[in-house]
Parts: sequence; structure tokens; C-alpha cells
Amino acid sequence: MMSALIRKRPQDWRVRPNFTDYDDTRADFSWGSVPRVCDGMPGGGCNIAYAAVDRHARGPAAAHTALRFVSADSADEGLVTRDLTYAELAGLTMRFTNVLRSLGVGKGDRVFTFMNRCPELYVTILGALRNGSVVCPLFSAFGPEPVETRLALGQAQVLVTTRALYERKVAAIRDRLPSLEHVVLIDVDDGEQPGTQGFWTSMGAASDHAPVTHTTADDPALLHFTSGTTGTPKGALHVHGAAAMHYVTGLYALDLHADDIYWCTADPGWVTGMSYGVIAPLLHGVTSVVDEADFDAQRWYRILDAQAVTVWYTAPTALRMLIKAGPELAAAHRFPRLRFVASVGEPLNAEAVWWGERVLGLPIHDNWWQTETGGIMIANTPAFDVKPGSMGRPLPGVDACVIRRHDDGTISVIDEPDVEGELALTPGWPSMFRAYINAEERYRDCFVDGLYLTGDLVRRDADGYFWFVGRADDVIKSAGHLIGPFEVENALTDHPAVAEAAVIGVPDPTVGEVVKAFVTLKDGFPADEDTMRSLMAHARRRLGAAVAPKIIEFTDALPHTRSGKIMRRLLKARELGLPEGDTSTMETTGAAS
Ligand code: AMP
Repeated sequence: MMSALIRKRPQDWRVRPNFTDYDDTRADFSWGSVPRVCDGMPGGGCNIAYAAVDRHARGPAAAHTALRFVSADSADEGLVTRDLTYAELAGLTMRFTNVLRSLGVGKGDRVFTFMNRCPELYVTILGALRNGSVVCPLFSAFGPEPVETRLALGQAQVLVTTRALYERKVAAIRDRLPSLEHVVLIDVDDGEQPGTQGFWTSMGAASDHAPVTHTTADDPALLHFTSGTTGTPKGALHVHGAAAMHYVTGLYALDLHADDIYWCTADPGWVTGMSYGVIAPLLHGVTSVVDEADFDAQRWYRILDAQAVTVWYTAPTALRMLIKAGPELAAAHRFPRLRFVASVGEPLNAEAVWWGERVLGLPIHDNWWQTETGGIMIANTPAFDVKPGSMGRPLPGVDACVIRRHDDGTISVIDEPDVEGELALTPGWPSMFRAYINAEERYRDCFVDGLYLTGDLVRRDADGYFWFVGRADDVIKSAGHLIGPFEVENALTDHPAVAEAAVIGVPDPTVGEVVKAFVTLKDGFPADEDTMRSLMAHARRRLGAAVAPKIIEFTDALPHTRSGKIMRRLLKARELGLPEGDTSTMETTGAAS
């Protein structure tokens, strides 16, 4: 029988983990005493790009490979890779800083990226950070509507993208974005596309020496959009001082050592791909593998094998897709150097943890964090026993508790183990978000009695391990991407046939949840195949494949509260055949207004 615990013993360690004594390390830890990743920065400031690139480019790691890009064109016979050393990355990064300076783009100005994983993406991110500009990554599978919303809310001054993405998703909305002064295309030369300039033309004209802009630990560095139940997406602002968190969690949660070959499969369009696909590995001076292609089970095993990956950070949806692809594919490969595997972003089922043991020879180590925390907070780490299904325990420097919210707006901390409540964190870790841009009240509402409330429901067991229970709000997690139902409903109600729409997540064995929309139609529009096709196409065109609903159901009426709000929770309970809960606030006429 499977035990409920995976025991860790020192004799199984292939490399001595960085974090071996849970209680002592936590007790002795203080954020003031962590290694100073910006030491030596001219003028004594703090800048993520300086810490991630310059320190290594000027030291013994200059010729060490920083980024290894696995080309999307790789054929079956072998993977085609392109390496950038720390010194080369520094040169390119400085050139891009000079490109921005030549455009008059400076400290605090917003530079957006919108492209797949490729060298230009990393150079743009690091060059803009070095320039003191605020970087905001957009996921390339977004449609024009999420792109426009984020560019407008974030007051983008510069957008770096590809010709195809620009033509398909940006050109038509550009007139509505007055702040967007410069569009830089990575795959055209100057003059080829009106209103844009060529990335490499500008890079060719720029010097590869650019002093780092003076920034401090409290200066804004990154803007990551995330979703809530209602309203527009929320732009969570992070500061350069977050580098301390990325360094410490790279050390404790990912167990990075200088000779590691590390692969984070997340796209930098989302926070994991930025914090742990760009920043943390470079801070540690390791070699970081970047796959330029989309998921493919065979390809992924080949990368793990041929690149001799030692530390792998991935996500539950990808793991479930590997499980689905069957054990034979895995059996054709060897992973003798792989020594640590971690996962984040959605609940990791116990079966996936055990699959890792069987197929990769290592359990999968689940960890928890979110856009707002900027870095890993709760984790299973190499030296400590894993309870499959649990997210692990708080890292050094992180204080987590479980709270109950009361109707009068107050909260109380739940001390007893195994009681469900909301996960709350004591502020003070360096990568905590500092604002939701232009939404001060939404930001303030996240804090009660000196605690940051995460919106996640959890329980903590008697050993201090946290177990994920669900979200306290209506946001949807599909393939690891957080989707706000309101954004989807808005796009659907723009279709001429739609009277009202309500969007929920329904469980899916592979991607966690899929987006499902319930739609009422205006008089005169039939609930038939043609309307469905037109609505599906409209949603995909506007929202993009990552956000559009996968299922749409026509219905005669949607349930509302007496104050007129759609009761998504009731729709979800009905969909899942669960008890409907308290329906006392429900409007009883039943008709959609
Ligand atoms: P995001 O801000 O897009 O990174 O999404 C953060 C949310 O993803 C969290 O608030 C959780 O709801 C969910 N999440 C992240 N990691 C885990 C995990 N290990 N287990 C369960 N849910 C997770």
C-alpha cells in the first residue's frame, strides 16, 4: 500500500541540499541578513538586472552559459540549441538599454513584452530593468481584448513584439492607446512596418556599454496583471528589492547550486516564468534552459534527457499531460542527473507526486505562491518528507496562518490544526506587491489586521503542512492560467446575440478547470448551432485561445441576487450536482433582466 508520506533520508541526497534544518533555519532567518545580491552596484542601489547579469559577467562566471535556447525548429534527430553566456547576455542587455535611452524611455516608464520565448524576450526584459523602466510581460496567446485592456491600464509606452502578433492583435487597437509611443518588432527591419521600428536595426546602432540606471530596492521593476472576480484585471507592481526573495527561494525552494542545468517550463508572460524562468536562475549564475516551442511530451522528455537537466520547475497541467502520454515515452529516456523536481500554479494531485517517483525516480515537490507574493512562500523542499497532495510548509522568512473572515469585516486566526480557512501571510517579505496600479482601495482591501489575505482556502495539519482546499472567490485556474470570469463575460456580452453571460470553471482531469459560459440570448436570436459557432468564434477572436470559453451553454435565465448580481456559485453548484447552499439572497422571479 502507498504510504501517505515520502520519507527523505540523507543517504538519498545526490547533492547536499541548501536547506536542511527546518526549525533552526527559520528561527535564525532575517531578511536583513540574506546575501546582498546588489553588492557592488555603482552608487549602492539595487537593480534586478545588475544582480542577475552584471555580477556574473564581470566575474568568474562570465563565460558560463546563462541561457540555453532550444529552438522550436529542432528536428526529431536532435535538439538545436543556442547558448548565451553571461558576458554575451550582458552585452545584448546593455545594447537594449541604449535602444530605450535613444528613444527617450527612462526610469519608471512602462515597457511591455508580447512574444513567445526567444532571446529577444530575455534581452528586452533585462535591458529594460537595467534602464530602470517597469517591465510588463503579456502572454502571447492573449487575444486583442486582454492585450488592449492591459496596455491601457498599464499605460504602456513601449511594446516589444513580433510582426505577426502586432498585425493580428495590436495594429487595429493602436489608435486607442495614446500612451503607446514606440512599437519595436523583433523580426523586421526599420521601415518595413509603418509605425514600428526594428529591434535588431536599433540594436545594431547601439553601444554595448550602458551604465545601470540608479534604482533602489523600493523602485518599481515589474508589473504583472492578475485577475479577480470582478472588475478589470489587477496590475500588481513589484520592486527591484524582490531580487532578495528570488535569490533566497532559488536557494531554499529550488535548491539551486552553481553547476545546475535548470529548466523552468513557465512562460515569462506569467509571474512564474518571470520570477523563476528569468530572474532566480540568473541570480544564482546557473545555466537556464528555455524551450522556444509549446508542450510536446516526447520533446520534453528529450530536453530533460539530452540537456541533462538537474533541477526542473514545472506545473501540474504539464505533468498530467505527461502522465496521459503514457509510461513508454518516458521509458525511452534516462534522467540520471535530475535531482529535484518542483511544481506550482494549481493543485498537484497526490497521484502526480507518486508518478514522479515511479517514472523520473523523484517525487514532485509542490509549492505555493501567487502573483501578489512575487515569490515562493510555501514549499516542499529536498531535505524534508513530502506528504503527497500537500503544498508543503512556509519557507524561512515566511509566516503563514489560517484565518476566518467575519461578517463585520474582522478576522480571527484559527490556531487548531485541520480547520479550513483562508491563507494569510505576515507582510515583510521583499517581493510582496506594493500596489495594484490605479486601484488603491483594492490593494488596501487585501490587508486586514496587519495580515495579507490571499483569497485561497487551505488547512494546516498538525505537522505544519498546508493543504489547498479551493479559491475563496470566483477566479478560474485553467492550465495554470488565472482567468477572471468578468473579463470573459464582458467579451461575450459584446456579441449582438447575447443578453447576459455568466462564466465559471468546471473541473477537468488534465487542465484543472475549463472555462464554461452560461448565456442567455436576446429575443430573435435562436439557440442553435449557428449562434453557437458565431459566439465561439467571437470569443476566441476577442480573448484568444488561452482565455476564451471551451464550453458555452444557452440557458433561459441566469440566477441573480436581489441586488442584481449573477450568482456564479449557484451555477457552479448546479453544474457539479452539489448542494446549492444559502440561496436566501436569490431573486425569485427567475427571469434574466
Ligand atoms: P497566479 O497569481 O496566476 O500565479 O495564481 C495564483 C493562484 O494559483 C493561487 O492563489 C492559488 O489559487 C493557485 N495556486 C498556486 N500554486 C498552487 C498550488 N501549489 N496548489 C494549489 N493552488 C495553487
